[in-house]
Amino acid sequence: MWEDSPVTDARAETEREPDFPPVKGGVNAIAVRAAESEVNMRDERCIFCKIANGEIPSNTLYEDEKYRVILDLGPATKGHALILPKDHYENLYELPDENGAEVLRLAKQMAVRMKEKLGCTGMNLVQNNGESAGQTVHHFHMHLIPRYDDGSRIVTWTPGEPSAEELAQIRDTICG
Ligand code: AMP
Ligand code: ZN
Repeated sequence: MWEDSPVTDARAETEREPDFPPVKGGVNAIAVRAAESEVNMRDERCIFCKIANGEIPSNTLYEDEKYRVILDLGPATKGHALILPKDHYENLYELPDENGAEVLRLAKQMAVRMKEKLGCTGMNLVQNNGESAGQTVHHFHMHLIPRYDDGSRIVTWTPGEPSAEELAQIRDTICG
């Protein structure tokens, strides 16, 4: 829920949308995480671990106990942001299901906020896994790329023309 929203939300804590502006978990929350050894889920050599956990400063748009959303230093468009889990998962394959659901929920909240505040007319969610897919930082992150009516296109490809048999073969390979 946004700062200027009426405080009338009677739903359970877990059902609520993230609070804005960013709030940090309390001392107790941090202690619980430490007790559960979740601090071990960080990679000392990983720059996104350091950014997500506040060891390296960033332009933070949102933060809670498990995530930080920052502005990308090399933005594709105005407002290009990254959702970073504070724990280190290299890519989507390693990301626990629970985090996957949380990341998409947070992406939706951020997208709504950015649409309202930036006036963007579109939004690409981009998430690269592996170098062949363009991943350069090997700590899971979701790109939020606001789009404007300026004609630019980034996420694009030339459509192939597979036959019906080829499509069926690929389907069988994946599903078999
Ligand atoms: P990817 O190619 O999907 O791994 O995306 C990595 C993204 O991280 C790129 O868009 C970079 O511009 C961005 N990036 C790299 N280092 C930093 C940093 N220190 N702070 C913010 N964004 C960064
Ligand atoms: Zn990391």
